[in-house]
Amino acid sequence: MSRPIVAAIDTSALRHNLAVARQAAPHSRLWSVVKANAYGHGIDRVRESLAETDGFALLDLNEAILLRERGWKKPVLLLEGFFHASELEILDRYRLTTSVHSNWQIQALAKARLSAPLDIYLKMNSGMNRLGFQPGQVNQAWQSLRALQNVGEMTLMAHFAEAESREGIVEPMRRINAAAEGLDCPRSLANSAATLWHPETHFNWVRPGIVLYGASPSGRWQDVASSGLRPAMSLSSEIIGIQRLKSGDGVGYGARYRAAGEQRIGVVACGYADGYPRHAPSGTPVWVDGVMTHTVGAVSMDMLTLDLTPCPQAGIGSRVELWGDNVKIDEVAYASGTVGYELMCALAPRVPVTVI
Ligand SMILES: *Cc1c(COP(=O)(O)O)cnc(C)c1O
Repeated sequence: MSRPIVAAIDTSALRHNLAVARQAAPHSRLWSVVKANAYGHGIDRVRESLAETDGFALLDLNEAILLRERGWKKPVLLLEGFFHASELEILDRYRLTTSVHSNWQIQALAKARLSAPLDIYLKMNSGMNRLGFQPGQVNQAWQSLRALQNVGEMTLMAHFAEAESREGIVEPMRRINAAAEGLDCPRSLANSAATLWHPETHFNWVRPGIVLYGASPSGRWQDVASSGLRPAMSLSSEIIGIQRLKSGDGVGYGARYRAAGEQRIGVVACGYADGYPRHAPSGTPVWVDGVMTHTVGAVSMDMLTLDLTPCPQAGIGSRVELWGDNVKIDEVAYASGTVGYELMCALAPRVPVTVI
């Protein structure tokens, strides 16, 4: 028998969530964002479930090539573009769509010898100040690219820093509209939050990521609870030890939790080396044999500890859901001061994964 921890990827949830995203933006085409190995789910495990998508968006060339080698014929978009001019040969060979966010990339495209034009996404900076051309530079960059034989279809792309709120998109949309004036350009603006909550941002292509995996773009599950999204990943393990504490007894490193009276504690084979957040405080929800309880004490590298008061029937071998259908990954993330995105991406390679 191996260690009982396992992550399960639910392919029907992925299909379902893709349909939810499509319903939210019924008039747009849809990039399924599968960067960071499909937010930790594994590109190879999700690509068939998401095959109804219009394209896959990511940023690692090896992941893009993997999709092509698995026979994916529809578009693949490199969200950060190419990092060096020499990669254009690979983009050409695998027919990858690239974002263009800097002048050096325009010059590299001008000089490259390609077998056919590449489709490009001209990335503008609408206020987030990461990548992209300033609104006032967009027209010039667009015209320069349009004049190149190496450039095929062009789309204007921007990314929102605060699409969780209505106010968060007002100023970026004003800048995007100003930059696009006079350009007959298809647009791709919407991440998950904008796809769900701001139809006026949808345009030609939406780019949802996190919702495909069934978590909330805002970091709060309540914000998507009524959207019908289903968690695509569950992390579960088993109780491998039981302790009976007396009043004043501590649990785990630093004795960060002390029992107020007699208390039964379950020790679970899951720790931060599996991807469970070390910052999860006492009180983070956990599901044991059908009953909701919570962690107590510090999360260790390989183990964490639970209050078994609400589940007297639980013992060694009881199934424990760390996150999944019953404990939303957003709840664990929120308690730990982070977002579901980070927990998914941090699932450790040592955790065995099954596909259901
Ligand atoms: C990651 C990413 C997305 C998807 O964001 P979600 O919040 O996961 O929907 C969309 N566009 C770009 C440019 C991204 O980097």
